[in-house]
Formats: sequence, structure tokens, C-alpha cells
Amino acid sequence: YQESSVLLERAKKVLASGVSSEFRKYNHPHALFYTHGEGSRIYDVDGNEYLDFTLSQGPLILGHSHPEVLKAVREYSEKGQLFAGQHIREIELAEKINQLIPSAELMRFCLDGSEAVQTAFRVARAKTGRKKFLRFEGHYHGWMDNVCWGISTPSAEALGSRENPNVYPWTQGLPEGVENEFIILPWNDLDLVRKTVSERFSEIAAIITEPVMCNNGCIEPRPGFLEGLREICTEHGIALIFDEVITGFRLSLGGAQQYFGITPDLAIFAKAIASGYAISAIVGKRDWMQLIEDARVIHAGTMNAGNPTVAAALTTITVLETERPHERMFALGQKLMAGLKQAASDTGHSLLVEGPGPMFAISFSLLDKTNEYRDTLSADKGKLGKFIAAMHDEGVRVIGRGLWYISAVHTEADIDHAISTARKVLADMK
Ligand code: PMP
Repeated sequence: YQESSVLLERAKKVLASGVSSEFRKYNHPHALFYTHGEGSRIYDVDGNEYLDFTLSQGPLILGHSHPEVLKAVREYSEKGQLFAGQHIREIELAEKINQLIPSAELMRFCLDGSEAVQTAFRVARAKTGRKKFLRFEGHYHGWMDNVCWGISTPSAEALGSRENPNVYPWTQGLPEGVENEFIILPWNDLDLVRKTVSERFSEIAAIITEPVMCNNGCIEPRPGFLEGLREICTEHGIALIFDEVITGFRLSLGGAQQYFGITPDLAIFAKAIASGYAISAIVGKRDWMQLIEDARVIHAGTMNAGNPTVAAALTTITVLETERPHERMFALGQKLMAGLKQAASDTGHSLLVEGPGPMFAISFSLLDKTNEYRDTLSADKGKLGKFIAAMHDEGVRVIGRGLWYISAVHTEADIDHAISTARKVLADMK
């Protein structure tokens, strides 16, 4: 990784920690910089090839450099830049999303998931006249001030009681009082949500959840949990917000809301929507999104919905619609999950493998299943780090926290290769 090491030294002089830090903590030289990607493969500056399950943290659902997406971006870039409210492609994209996503009656486009989350919060506050949000331990909703008031404890004990968890800022420089914006509860515990809301509903503007918790493990909702949130929100006039930044277009063309059959009031889409081009969407039921329509809630952004990025989104969604890769992505993901589990048990490791398939997570844990963030804290993170680093050295890239993303272009042979590589790495780790 000689070239990567040289670039790292250059980067350190000018970028404030602005390089992928995934491997720096392992005290081991690794490729940190890449030259290009194609299909299921990515290439580093030293000329090494990797089978990629990071998909640039999720967006590349069609794999790297999908030719139709590149063609659309090129074509629309050559027409000059047109932005939101100025071109027909934006209307076409909104019409397409409106057809596919159950809650998408009205929508607006932004640049990334974090912005769209903030817009949803603003709409929820404006409509309800209430100030607080209920969110869940271990979920990630971007990096804006308020959502940085999160969980950052090393152990389940330090989290404190379930009703009143101890929560800490995971960054400095947050405004005073930001901690009062949230009520934070453990996930997947409907009784606790119901009790809390019945006591405090007059303060709560919205409940926000990842429909599958993908930022700490990959944990599916318990049967009835999302249904229960829907009922509670309807009963108390609270906005139900699905943060579909990861699940959107990945679990199905209609997102997690179609997959689970639960329609939220507002939802956020980013990542897979446009194969990595900078666009996100806040979508919602007409009676909530009407506040933006009526200009009672501001939503702006000079560079929103530029025509090349909108073309990338339209093309990505059209390819997904035409090729219908979801069933295959589930099958490949589940095959990989089973293969990893088997490889671990054959080599004497306790590996927890969880998730629906198109994305899933692994952890070195003695548990058979996790239901919430607290359960994830007993896993051996050091061992996971060693596994991920060794896989990388063997040419298979996985996200540092153990998350794997399957794309529409991964093949059976890719899955077999990943399983045999994992088997070798796990055997060597004994
Ligand atoms: N919500 C979820 C569930 C996410 O996973 C992320 C990003 N990983 C975000 C919001 C923030 O999105 P972005 O990085 O595009 O701002």
C-alpha cells in the first residue's frame, strides 16, 4: 500500500481528518485511496482489486459506474445546469417516486439525508405545534446539531435505565439546550414507547425511526413494532417519520414502507436513490407536506435537484424497475449470510449474522439475536476490526462496523468468493 501511504501523508497536511479513517485505527497499513470502480469491483491507487460490499456506504445499488447512469449524467451535464423548479426531469422524478412510494404524495429534493431529516423535523413541528422528537438508541439520522445528541457509551450499564437513558453528545460544539429536543428510548420496545407517549404526547411532534436499524448492527423491527408506532402516532396526532436513507430502494422499490406495509407520514430517501449522486428526498402525506407547499415551512437549497443528479436518480430507479433485482439481492444476501455463519461455526467462532439480506451485519457476539442497541454492546469490536482488516487484505471490502451491502450486479461467484475468503480469514484468526 505504498502509494496509499504517500497520499495519506499528503492528505494529513491539508485535510482535517478528511480521509477514510476506517483502517487507520488498526495500526496496520491499508489502502485508503482508490482510483476507480466498475461493477462489483473497486481498485486502489496501488493497483489492487477488491470485491466491494461497501458500495460507497450504500448508494451504489447498481454497482460502480453503471453505464446507463453515467450516460444520463453526461447527457444532462452537457445541457448546462438547471436546478429545482426549472426543468421537466424533476417533475418526472417526483411522479415516479409518487407512483412507487406509498407515503410520497408530495415531496421536495435536497442534497443529502441529513438535510432531509431536518426538513422533516421542521414540518412536524410546524404542523403539530410541539417541540420534541422521540427517537431510538443506536439509530443514526445524520450529523446535524440536534441528532448529534446521541448515545456514545461503551457499555449497556453506562446507558442507565430504559425509561431515562443517559445520553451524551458524540461531538463537541453543539448549541445549548439541544439535548432537550429529544426523548431517546431503546428500540423495539413498544410498551415503553406507548407508556412514554401516553404521558408526554403533548410535547412530541414526531417519532423518527430507521425501519430496520442499520447503523449499529442490522436489526429488524419486532413483529408489530412498526404497526404499533403507526397506531400511537395516529392516535396522538404525532408525525411518524421513517428514515429510509438505507432501506429506501434497497428493501423494495417502495422502500421499507412497502416491504413492511406500514405507511409513515413523512419519509427520507437518500443513498440508493441516485447511485451516489448528491440528491435526497423528503416525501410525505399531502396534509403534512402542504406546509412547505404553502410556504409556511421553508425548504431551500441553491443546488437542489440539478438536472444531472435528477437524471442519475431517474435512471437508477428506472433500471431498478426494469431489471427488478430485489428478489435476487435478497437471495444472494441470504446465501452470503448463511455461508458466513457456516464458515464461522466450522472454524470455531461465534458470529452473529443479522439482517434481511440486501444489507446485513456481522458481529462477534455470543447472542443468537439482537433486538436493540443495548444488545450490540457485548460484541467483540476488536475482533471484528481484525476480521474486516484481514478481509480487506484478501481483497474483499466490508464496512468497518460489519455492515455488508449487496448490489444488483453482485454475482453468485462473488458471493462464493466472499464466503471462501471469510473462511480462510476466520481459520487464520484462531
Ligand atoms: N439517516 C440514516 C439512517 C443514515 O444511515 C444516514 C447516513 N449514513 C443519514 C441519515 C445521513 O445521510 P447523509 O450522510 O446523506 O447526510
